[in-house]
Amino acid sequence: MHCPKCGHPETRVIDSRSQEASNAIKRRRECRRCHHRFTTFERCEDPLEVTKSDGTVQAFDRNKLMVGLMRATIKRDIDTSKLNELIDDIEHELRSSATTNVSSHVLGDMVLKRLERLDKVAYIRFASVYRDFKDVDEFLDELKKLR
Ligand SMILES: [Zn+2]
Repeated sequence: MHCPKCGHPETRVIDSRSQEASNAIKRRRECRRCHHRFTTFERCEDPLEVTKSDGTVQAFDRNKLMVGLMRATIKRDIDTSKLNELIDDIEHELRSSATTNVSSHVLGDMVLKRLERLDKVAYIRFASVYRDFKDVDEFLDELKKLR
């Protein structure tokens, strides 16, 4: 997404909202060079779907993911725009793949992979929710891997 003012190719998403009725995403972006702010409407070609472990299919929900990420990063001083970028990155990867359907397990791994790079504490917090640890050993194994 190029800046409409100076043409710089790198812009930062500062806010992202899905427009339920039109299946489009409204984004506030800021140019990394001149800090010009502008709004884009990005249309989703096909709705992305998530298949849960019990077989039910749900629409890929950015907001739901954001709530989970915000819970995981509470008091970690991570800018919301970083989380938006993380979700953007996942959405981009999903849209680049051959299918519009992803299993919740694969989606969880995609989140964890990115969260691990962003913040280790947030990663552990999110993992504990997302992977639904069966017992404490499983959780400790996860902790050990990070040492
Ligand atoms: Zn600019």
